[in-house]
Amino acid sequence: MALATFSLGASPAKDTQISSGGPAHYNDGRPANVDDVYQRCRHLGMRLSRQRRMVLDLLWAERSHLSARDIFEKLNDLGRNIGHTSVYQNLEALQSAGVIECIDRASGRLYGYRADPHSHLTCVESGSITDLDVELPDDLLRQIEAATGFAIESYTLHLSGRRRP
Ligand SMILES: [Zn+2]
Repeated sequence: MALATFSLGASPAKDTQISSGGPAHYNDGRPANVDDVYQRCRHLGMRLSRQRRMVLDLLWAERSHLSARDIFEKLNDLGRNIGHTSVYQNLEALQSAGVIECIDRASGRLYGYRADPHSHLTCVESGSITDLDVELPDDLLRQIEAATGFAIESYTLHLSGRRRP
């Protein structure tokens, strides 16, 4: 896990925390592995068909953001016998139950393994998306709450850039 800190603008009081990749264990209750996700599905009363497990297994193995077609092609490359419609239907069922993430792009939907709030860094050259955990300083959140009258419950940052030479 890469871990770095940086300050944001006029908020020197507390450094912003940022990390990419995932720790082996989480203490905030989010799934640490695909077995936890199976458990979550059972709690939600979702049937864990062979096809649904295939889709979840692939998302957790890849840990990136993939289209339904990418997932279909990767599963078929692995010799898994699953139709495109089944892949699509399972992805939609999993995302509407909040088990996986779904990003709407102009080019179509992308699906990811994480369903908890997190931030994204998009490469403007390749379009690849990296998951990031960014923690904003408390005083910045308080400022936003004061300015909007809202109690902030979660946030997602969308960052874009290119790899530095
Ligand atoms: Zn993501």
